[in-house]
Amino acid sequence: MIDLHVHSSASSDARGSVLDYWEQARKVGIQILCLTNHLEYMHKSTGLVDINFKRDFEKYEEEFKTTASLKEGPEILLGAELGNRFNYRDQMEEYIRYFDWDFLTGSAHVVDGFGIAASHGIGYFEGKSEEEAYGCYFDKVEKLLNWGPFQTFAHFDIIKRNGITFYGPFRAEKYRDRIYRLLRLIKEKDMALELNTSGYFQNPQEPYPCRQILEMAYETGIRKVTIGSDCHDPKNLGRGIHQGLALLKEVGFKEITFFRKKVPCKFDLMTKSGSLNDK
Ligand SMILES: [Zn+2]
Ligand SMILES: [Zn+2]
Repeated sequence: MIDLHVHSSASSDARGSVLDYWEQARKVGIQILCLTNHLEYMHKSTGLVDINFKRDFEKYEEEFKTTASLKEGPEILLGAELGNRFNYRDQMEEYIRYFDWDFLTGSAHVVDGFGIAASHGIGYFEGKSEEEAYGCYFDKVEKLLNWGPFQTFAHFDIIKRNGITFYGPFRAEKYRDRIYRLLRLIKEKDMALELNTSGYFQNPQEPYPCRQILEMAYETGIRKVTIGSDCHDPKNLGRGIHQGLALLKEVGFKEITFFRKKVPCKFDLMTKSGSLNDK
């Protein structure tokens, strides 16, 4: 098994050391995990201009290297989840250059200053029609994809996490043209699309993105997909991954792509246990 979206305590909203995750991975049979701590500037209303690696980078790097050097256990990859704080684009790019990352993930977390996926971000939806709320989110996604110094795009329809409380179940067909345009952009840029399984355990009770968007992605010709639990606690490592892998197979995907030093590698979905092939 594989889990490519994992937050350790270097993310201010997560707990668990890198070693805790490595041990948990060994326990639950995860062969490869990728740390994707937030590379995200804080909300401007907090007055903080800060990166969400709350510990200092050197300490985090040390912790990662020590764990990554452990033999005979899960392989641990170093990634980051890049937010869409374009006011801090230069600083983000500086951090992107700082490490020799395996794998970077792009995420649209903020629209109009609201953290749209967080419980405190529900103010974003108040007084907005569904079309307006979702449309502005997709605008941010497009801007992020056009910037795009990352290998995969995370939780494509995360806007529904809070959106469904206001507008009911998310119906991708309503945004068909818009979604296809974004998927074509992902394909043109040769990025991967993430299947984020955290949605199975949140309000939508379905992954990000939903099955219909996965089908659209397949139809668009996207064949690179990544998968991750988006866990913020070691106890949730790998949560929903089996279910997500089964869904991807049903849609037609045959492999998961992951990256070592940004080089794509494949995890075969067609063998029972999943086999790892370099290239
Ligand atoms: Zn995210
Ligand atoms: Zn995340």
